[in-house]
Amino acid sequence: MTASSRQISPQPSAPSSEPADVIGDQAAQNQVPPLTGYNLFLSDRTLVQAVEREGAGWAREQITELGRFLGTEEAQRWGFEANENKPVLHTHDRLGNRRDEVVFHPSWHNLMRISVANRLHSLPWESGRPGAHVARAALMMLTAQNEAGHTCPISMTFSAVAALRAEPELAAEWEPRILSSAYDPRFAPAQEKSGVLLGMGMTEKQGGSDVRANITRAERIGSSREYLITGHKWFCSAPMCDAFLILAQAPQGLTCFLLPRWTPDGKRNAFHIQRLKDKMGNRSNASSEVEFVRAWAHVVGEEGRGVQTIIEMVNHTRLDCAIAAAGLMRQALAQAVHHARHRAAFGKLLIDQPLMRNVLADLAIESEAATLLMIRLAHAFDHWERDERERAFCRVATAIAKYWLCKRSPMHVGEALECLGGNGYVEESVMPRLYREAPLYSIWEGSGNVMCLDVLRALAKEPATVEALLAALQSTAGADKRLDVYVESIGNRLSAEAGDKYAARDLTEKLALALQASLMLRYSSPAMAERFIASRLAGQHGHAFGTLTEEVNVEDILSGVVEPLAAPK
Ligand SMILES: Cc1cc2nc3c(=O)[nH]c(=O)nc-3n(C[C@H](O)[C@H](O)[C@H](O)COP(=O)(O)OP(=O)(O)OC[C@H]3O[C@@H](n4cnc5c(N)ncnc54)[C@H](O)[C@@H]3O)c2cc1C
Repeated sequence: MTASSRQISPQPSAPSSEPADVIGDQAAQNQVPPLTGYNLFLSDRTLVQAVEREGAGWAREQITELGRFLGTEEAQRWGFEANENKPVLHTHDRLGNRRDEVVFHPSWHNLMRISVANRLHSLPWESGRPGAHVARAALMMLTAQNEAGHTCPISMTFSAVAALRAEPELAAEWEPRILSSAYDPRFAPAQEKSGVLLGMGMTEKQGGSDVRANITRAERIGSSREYLITGHKWFCSAPMCDAFLILAQAPQGLTCFLLPRWTPDGKRNAFHIQRLKDKMGNRSNASSEVEFVRAWAHVVGEEGRGVQTIIEMVNHTRLDCAIAAAGLMRQALAQAVHHARHRAAFGKLLIDQPLMRNVLADLAIESEAATLLMIRLAHAFDHWERDERERAFCRVATAIAKYWLCKRSPMHVGEALECLGGNGYVEESVMPRLYREAPLYSIWEGSGNVMCLDVLRALAKEPATVEALLAALQSTAGADKRLDVYVESIGNRLSAEAGDKYAARDLTEKLALALQASLMLRYSSPAMAERFIASRLAGQHGHAFGTLTEEVNVEDILSGVVEPLAAPK
């Protein structure tokens, strides 16, 4: 845009400043103060209510404290520093010996220490308290808003426990180390450390989604449950973890193994880090290519049932993808609303411009729907062991929520970024980091198509999933005619189309929207639920955010989004 084509208008809220002699020294006017010194939890009304409602009120104090800390300038700075100073791989020492270590910035370690101390990697396993998954989901959602990269090893460590339990003796040995709330980043044998972290290695050069194509081999050592692994992994995140659940081909077929960085007799295992990926985002986290040269490993579960074993881990990381995607949307919304409350254009604060109100309200509705669906999924994880229906719901809703929230977050974050104008595109703001992070959740732990095909698989092979979905949707039957009609049309497709792979995205999207609409009817303000249903289900919406066709009470919608900076903590 040329200077002459811009419309210039008075800036009503611009702070007054002394005139400066030199243009470059002029005090910045109409710029927005950083969003800092606020409580990420208390300023999120939807999350606060969800924590109470879903039986996680016992963790309120901890979540409040973490929410306060993550809003401080110190925690925000750690997030920036950990991403600006990428991890560095040292393959060899100065004498030419293999070293295979990754060195991180101190801020990475600070972030990891806080997350481990808050038991983001272990809470449901150690507490067993009702609502522990919801409590953890809230903690994780807040953490991902500040710095998402380091939640990768946190999530993998948490999730690995579910699979490790297929090998009870091994689990008995490793769980106490995993459940420790001490972060011990030393590269040392696990038995010498005060706390350990776990990663995952499935993806190989020739296939990530199709892990059955793995060519890494496992040779059994005598008749023991120990093996030697030879092969590679094309993506292996957080290679400084202490052990990895990996897949390899054993005589009976694809099998899951625990492969530690050090052998039980205290020697470095033959786990060679070839290089780190140069990634578009997720820069604080190291993602590597690794090779195994007869590396020692212990089998986990039955030989030949590797996918069935490791899927327990994968399901939990998929939950975390949904949590993080909701977190990214929430943080993007908070930044956009904060900006619009402070920045003026054309004689008004942006938040008072009708079209910006449409955009912000639409983003807020999307973020609320994401949080509710994510929490509903965490609730299912809390109850599946005791409740058959929740088990079936969990089976299918994990794929639905992972697909839909991860699909929506890049678009949502991109639109929120634009609310900040040019400042949103500059690295000093957190928006570029959120934007680069967002597509990742859709790729790993089962990319979009893979998730939708998994929905079909669940519907076709486990009829209880159809019943569980319908029961969830019928919980609000009669509350809104448009939702009733929508649910009826999907209900007719659930069994009939379970084999129609071509339509899998369409069906999964509609299931997600129906679940979100039902949740909004139950837990959101009537105005928000009404706009969600009108726009997402009844067609009163364009293809971009900011195309709500009827006015909503924006103040009401946005009042719970982020408190002004001066709000009591
Ligand atoms: C930053 C990062 C970190 C990662 N960390 C790890 C890690 O720690 N451990 C690990 O094991 N992996 C890791 N991965 C790998 C990731 O899980 C895979 O990239 C992902 O599973 C997809 O596999 P792929 O890259 O081989 O793609 P492909 O499997 O080749 O898939 C390519 C595309 O085809 C689609 N597709 C696949 N099958 C079908 C089908 N039947 N029908 C229709 N479409 C289909 C997929 O949805 C995808 O869009 C990481 C990836 C990234 C980007």
